Amino acid sequence: MVFETFSPDETYELARRIGEKAAAGQVYLLNGDLGVGKTLFSQGFAAGLGVSEYVNSPTFTIMQIYDDGRLPMYHFDVYRIGDVSEMDEIGYEEYFYGEGVCLIEWAELVEEILPDDAVSILIEKDIARGVDYRKISIEGLEL
Ligand code: ADP
Ligand code: MG
Repeated sequence: MVFETFSPDETYELARRIGEKAAAGQVYLLNGDLGVGKTLFSQGFAAGLGVSEYVNSPTFTIMQIYDDGRLPMYHFDVYRIGDVSEMDEIGYEEYFYGEGVCLIEWAELVEEILPDDAVSILIEKDIARGVDYRKISIEGLEL
């Protein structure tokens, strides 16, 4: 599935609709360059889950839990991870295979531990189509 958005609001709204339908145990992989909209997508997704807390990039903690929505949301940002063993240290399996929903910014950096049935989301710019244009490719999800 490929979506195109032309503003931050459109990406937020797409993510919100996906968050509304999210189910326990799902893992969403968010890939794409810095500043492409992974955190913005996470914010919309959180809104769809009914999370009212402000969601920002958990870069310095690797993972942040938001538990005031319909399901617990485990928001990872593994950009600064040095080694995959840091994921073991925080006990990632409990979150990946738990009762909540995981969103993992920069998931490609921890490829070896990702579940096979995860939903893959790639966000890309195309400057020729304007600075606010984003192509959002989603695999492994029925909408
Ligand atoms: P990342 O987490 O991928 O580093 P952020 O979500 O923090 O990126 O930032 C994305 C930036 O791009 C925001 O400043 C947002 O306003 C801007 N932006 C512009 N157009 C779009 C769009 N169509 N979708 C998502 N973000 C957009
Ligand atoms: Mg981010």
